[in-house]
Parts: sequence; C-alpha cells; structure tokens
Amino acid sequence: MTVDVESFPDPTDRASLESDRNFTLRIRDRERKLIGKIKEALERIEDGSFGECEKCGGDISFKRLQARPVTTLCIDCKKKQEASEKARGL
Ligand SMILES: [Zn+2]
Repeated sequence: MTVDVESFPDPTDRASLESDRNFTLRIRDRERKLIGKIKEALERIEDGSFGECEKCGGDISFKRLQARPVTTLCIDCKKKQEASEKARGL
C-alpha cells in the first residue's frame, strides 16, 4: 500500500510557494513604480527638464543619471532627503 503524497502537502513547500507569491507581488509592485518613474522621466525629456534637480533646480550629474536615469534629485538633495528620512525614522 502506498501513501498518497498529494494529500499530505509538505508545509515547507506550501510556505515557499507562499513566499514565492509574495516575492512576485513585490517585484510587480516595484516594476509598476519603476514604470511610473520612467514615464515621468520621459515626460521630463519632452519638456526639457530632464537632468534637472526638482528640489534645487541644479544639474544632476551625468554619472548619476547614467546610474539612475529616473532620479529627480541631485546627489546633494538626495543625501539631504535620506538624512531627514533617517532622522524621522523611516
Ligand atoms: Zn538638488
């Protein structure tokens, strides 16, 4: 007599299936946000404000734009933003 494996699902398998799903959802969520940012970047290219820091109006360095084309802040403003986020415990 054999045991029907299907009726005894391994709880670890189910857990990993669940975390795979969460992982996929997280990726999708991140992609959706990134697509939104890319669209905004394209709009900025259209209106000529691409590469301009939205906070101080200064130029965002070419190197930074190469690494993060969707960024809207220059490195100085980004650092300030991150510091204040950290200060607020975000
Ligand atoms: Zn700036």
